[in-house]
Amino acid sequence: MAEVFRIDGGGSMRQGTCPKCKATEIHHNAHEMKTMYGRGHRGLHVGLFGIAEVDRYVCTACGFFESYVNADGLEKIRKAWTRVAPPPQAPSP
Ligand SMILES: [Zn+2]
Repeated sequence: MAEVFRIDGGGSMRQGTCPKCKATEIHHNAHEMKTMYGRGHRGLHVGLFGIAEVDRYVCTACGFFESYVNADGLEKIRKAWTRVAPPPQAPSP
């Protein structure tokens, strides 16, 4: 899976920089997911398939946070959740 750095700031917290205040005080819940939460308390419930784990990144300078469902969770969601259809393209005149 390719990682693309976007100029608009999307995903920059994964690189350790806050897209809002530019601080580098980013904390990630990777360790917590494996310890204090235990199974079933750290993600989204997905139909019959269980839990989609959510990675969270929080800027402790301004409080901004981002969440990402991991690759395994995305696969579960593709199977269990309804895809939102984009609006039909309006025909150009
Ligand atoms: Zn920040």
